Amino acid sequence: MASIHIDGLTKVYPGDVTAIDGLDLTVADGSFFALLGPSGCGKTTLLRTIAGLEEATGGSIHIGEREVTRLSPGDRNVAMVFQDYALFPHMSVTDNIAYPLRIKKVGRSERAAKAVETGEGLGLSALMDRRPGELSGGQQQRVALARAMACQPDVFLLDEPLSNLDARLRLEARTFLKRLQRDLAVTTVFVTHDQSEALAMADQIAVMEAGRIRQLGTPSEIFRRPANTFVANFIGSTPMNMLRGELRGGKLHVGDREPVDAVAAGWAGADTRDGAVTVAFRPEYARVDEPGSLSFEGEVETSENLGASVLITARTHDDHRVQAVVPEGSEPEAGEAVRVTPVPGRVLVYDEDGELLAS
Ligand code: ATP
Repeated sequence: MASIHIDGLTKVYPGDVTAIDGLDLTVADGSFFALLGPSGCGKTTLLRTIAGLEEATGGSIHIGEREVTRLSPGDRNVAMVFQDYALFPHMSVTDNIAYPLRIKKVGRSERAAKAVETGEGLGLSALMDRRPGELSGGQQQRVALARAMACQPDVFLLDEPLSNLDARLRLEARTFLKRLQRDLAVTTVFVTHDQSEALAMADQIAVMEAGRIRQLGTPSEIFRRPANTFVANFIGSTPMNMLRGELRGGKLHVGDREPVDAVAAGWAGADTRDGAVTVAFRPEYARVDEPGSLSFEGEVETSENLGASVLITARTHDDHRVQAVVPEGSEPEAGEAVRVTPVPGRVLVYDEDGELLAS
């Protein structure tokens, strides 16, 4: 087991494409760490550079006390599970799991014993003689994990580990993977572009944009207090309400409504610099027809069923659109007049550069 320390890491691909741009990161020993971000932000490059499959252009990577920046993948004691699992189609499950041990020149009987033991731990005992083509997506994923685990690596690197599974299996596999990671307590970094996956599984999440980390935090920190409007827009299953406004003398001015005391409006902040701001709150942290000093009166345009709750979109008299998630059964009808009010303490205020004003 080991932590990962990354200092000033840069990766420039031929053609002058900067995929990783002076990135610093520490992944704590034994933690389950997600790299999250939009397509092209450099997640896979970062994972592959930790694995040694891409050579760093600058900076350093340590695993535990050991600097591994220039070591070959085989010398880093990391195991990577690829998106497509990369199993050998002509080999049985046993041989697939034992393959890395064969490369390490472990003896035949010890290899087989280790494969059986690891397969058992992952519920594969009845499938050990099958070939990958005779397995479901979820079973193939377990074989790929077993193959990675058999070597007892210091670090697991998982590239979109659940993307090949159908929606239902993916939910089961999430729970399974989280339990497995907790039981093994091996430092694990996984790449995903699916924020719900990162929020559900990870201990820590790094949200990336253009080769840099825009926020690092626990799932609840990232969800509740996005550090900038990029993260605020990226995270959440429904888009954050964002309204242009101004902060002046501790009062928030939004649209044509009366200026309201920022703290009374539900902002937990204390930074009262004057200037243009974005006032933001999640639809999940909005209430309908409850009093509050900052509220948005308007008419319901649409309501979308989310299962146990309903997302309503209201158009305000001063032409803003605000959304609120309300329990199913209590939703107002389209055309009905409503007042949407953010929950106290859940209003976020961003400055002109999109950075969260400190509380
Ligand atoms: P996705 O979610 O789409 O897989 P990602 O966040 O994993 O994206 P990367 O695959 O790491 O992003 O790519 C980061 C940047 O580097 C992108 O601009 C991509 O086009 C570029 N890139 C990736 N691989 C190469 C390569 N082999 N040669 C040149 N540019 C590359």
